[in-house]
Amino acid sequence: MRIEPAMKRRRWLVGMLGVVAASTIGYAGWRTFRPGDQAVCYACKRPIHEHSKTVAFADARSRLFCCPACALSQQEQSGEPVIITRLTSFLSGEPLAPENAFVVRGSDVNMCIRDRGLIGADKRPAPLRFDRCSPSLYAFANPSEASQFARQHGGQVMLFREAAETFSK
Ligand SMILES: [Zn+2]
Repeated sequence: MRIEPAMKRRRWLVGMLGVVAASTIGYAGWRTFRPGDQAVCYACKRPIHEHSKTVAFADARSRLFCCPACALSQQEQSGEPVIITRLTSFLSGEPLAPENAFVVRGSDVNMCIRDRGLIGADKRPAPLRFDRCSPSLYAFANPSEASQFARQHGGQVMLFREAAETFSK
């Protein structure tokens, strides 16, 4: 059977519409059901960055925090012990055991604070007001990764244990 050119065009058009419809529905579905979309920090309600995610036992349950600094601030502010049970490697996003992890404290990177660089009325950068996620604290699997990060972004390399013991605002 001969297919008329007009018919061919129509088939092609119907096929294309199908593809567009399917990808639109797929995209909408992905948008609606994207996992982790609702993940916000237990304490500050900021969205949780995958590379600084921190799990801690606080207020009688395991909770998700945006970063180690925020979890330690929680302990300071609530006066109740907050026990960090899992850190995340800032480089790889892999989970890290707090016992062996290294951290960089006070680098120029802070994923939680988005309004840095505010300019005050006198046209000078406004001083950073108190923030529970500052000074920033990010975890690394070993001292060489931590040192490399600190060379680029400043901050102090230490064991997570030490950082937790000496943490205060
Ligand atoms: Zn937080």
